[in-house]
This record gives sequence, C-alpha cells and structure tokens, in this order.
Amino acid sequence: RGAMAESAAASRPPADVDTDDCLREYRHLFSPDILAGQVAFITGGGSGIGFRIAEIFMRHGCKTVIASRNLQRVSEASKKLVAATGQQCLPVSIDVRQPQAIVAAVDEALNKFKRIDILVNGAAGNFLSPASALSFNAFKTVIDIDTIGTFNTSKVLFEKYFRDHGGVIINITATLSYRGQALQVHAGSAKAAIDAMTRHLAVEWGPNNIRVNSLAPGPITGTEGYRRLGGKFVEEASNFSQFPLQRAGNKTEIAHSTLYLASSLSSYVTGTTLVVDGGSCLTSANNFPAMLGIASSSAK
Ligand code: NAP
Repeated sequence: RGAMAESAAASRPPADVDTDDCLREYRHLFSPDILAGQVAFITGGGSGIGFRIAEIFMRHGCKTVIASRNLQRVSEASKKLVAATGQQCLPVSIDVRQPQAIVAAVDEALNKFKRIDILVNGAAGNFLSPASALSFNAFKTVIDIDTIGTFNTSKVLFEKYFRDHGGVIINITATLSYRGQALQVHAGSAKAAIDAMTRHLAVEWGPNNIRVNSLAPGPITGTEGYRRLGGKFVEEASNFSQFPLQRAGNKTEIAHSTLYLASSLSSYVTGTTLVVDGGSCLTSANNFPAMLGIASSSAK
C-alpha cells in the first residue's frame, strides 16, 4: 500500500497552509501566464477557499478584486496577496444580498482595471442544524446569501461587462444535496439551486461567449467550513478511511480546479458541475444521530 501511495503522483496534494496566508512556496503546474492580463472578481475572496483561489489566479498573471462584507478582512487579505504574488488586488466591501452595492463595486473595479474576465461566486454562509431547529429566517438567510447572492452578482457582471465581452463564471457549490446530507437542508438546497442556475445561465449566456460552471468541493482543510462542519471530528475518528482518496482536500487543490475552469484549458466546458471531493460524496457516512453529536459539540 505504501509503495502504491508513494508512486501516485497524480493524486498527491500540493502543499498548503491552514491559515488565511499565502503559500510559502509554489511550483507551477499550469503555465504561469495562463491568466496573464486578465481580471477576476471573487466574492468571498478574503478568506478560506476564495483567498487561495485569488492567490493561485494571481500567481498565474491575473489581477483580482476580492469582495466580502468585512472591509478590514479583504483589505488585509489584499495586502498579503500583493506581497506574495506582485500582482494587483482591489479589496471591496459588499454584501451580495444588495444589488446596488455590487453595482458600485463592479463600477469601481472596471474603473481601475478596465475589464473583468472571470467571476467566482464563493460567498456563502453555513452551519449545522437539524431542519426542525432551523428558524424560518435562518433558512431564508442562507438562500439569500448563497443562491440569490450568486444570481445578483452574476447578473450585475453580465449587464456591466460580460454581455458585450464574454467571460467565465464559476459558482462554488457543494455535494451536500446529492445524498441529502444530515443537518444541511439549508445549504444543500441553496447550493443545489445554484447548480441549476449554472445550467440555466450557461444556456442563456452561451451565445455571448460566457461559460458558466459549478465547482463542488468536498471537505477542505484550513477553512471555516471544515472547522465548523465537523471536519475535525471526521479526522479524529479516522473516518477518512471511508473516502476513496483516504483524506480531506486542501485549498490549493480547489484553486487548481477553479483555475482549470477559469482558463482556456476548459474552453468547451459549460453548464456542468466539477466535483472536487476525492470521491467522498460516494462513500462517506450520512449518519443523522452522529452528526447531531458534532453539531452540539461544535456549538459549545
Ligand atoms: P469562508 O472562509 O467562511 O468563506 C465564505 C466567505 O463568504 C467569507 O469570505 C465571507 O466574508 C463571505 N461572505 C459571507 N456572507 C457574505 C455576504 N452576505 N456578502 C458577501 N460576502 C459574504 O468559508 P470556506 O469554507 O472557505 O467556503 C468558501 C466556499 O466554498 C463557500 O461557498 C462554501 O459553501 C464552499 N464550500 C466549502 C467547503 C469546505 O470544506 N470548506 C466544502 C464545500 C463547499 P465576510 O464575512 O467578510 O462577508
């Protein structure tokens, strides 16, 4: 088994760091200029997966706009990204539930960079809760941020730039709905609706040379999602042996798959969902009572 694992270069994870900091070193696998001269607008770009996507895009020649509610968070993230990559990064404060704020941020970005080629919809909220304990408002809030926020941002980018210039949209979704993951009716429903939106917009906007795809990550270390949604529990219980690839993924692996979808390597790919989960949604447990235990211990 050891020898087999050692020789499996094609499934060896790249190095990553668990905090919202840039990679200490980076070896390019794709051409370093694959996104040269392009600009990406990344919601949720100040933390976790979105931060690493911004970094990897910038390491491939892209300028970025990173957007989330907390201006201090995106400003600090932007400084780190610029220092590590030498590329430009504009931090903007928006709540994706407010279309007018998105319009203002996109105007600011277009003023500065004159173009936007890529939109990554990564902003989302999530927590564990059984449906019976979820308030009506909590369910609505997750739909508002994840699903409606993704629509709002996509529509603003379409009207302001993509309709006339083409573009690429990547929606970060999840595998939660595939098997009805316990304690995740809110996020699973929200993300499933985004996967549907991906197909609708791919059909309507394809003639404008806009590709629209979803990327559905599995459990990804070094993220708020992983800390909150029971990743540590799975780790401690050695439950990774249930996953086909026997491990969680890392942020750089998600960023690399996003880079593929953003670049011309995927020039004929639209309307689909790329699942990046080491096969975990095929085999991992969906144990309602065990998940309830995780929810009550992480709430403490
Ligand atoms: P994260 O760091 O918490 O990322 C969520 C981001 O969304 C934050 O930067 C947050 O910043 C922003 N955000 C939240 N509400 C917003 C709003 N109303 N308007 C604008 N921005 C908002 O968590 P993550 O785990 O890296 O998740 C990133 C994406 O991957 C999410 O779409 C998540 O659903 C997806 N995902 C993650 C995993 C995982 O294992 N981590 C698995 C499957 C899917 P502010 O608080 O500053 O607004």
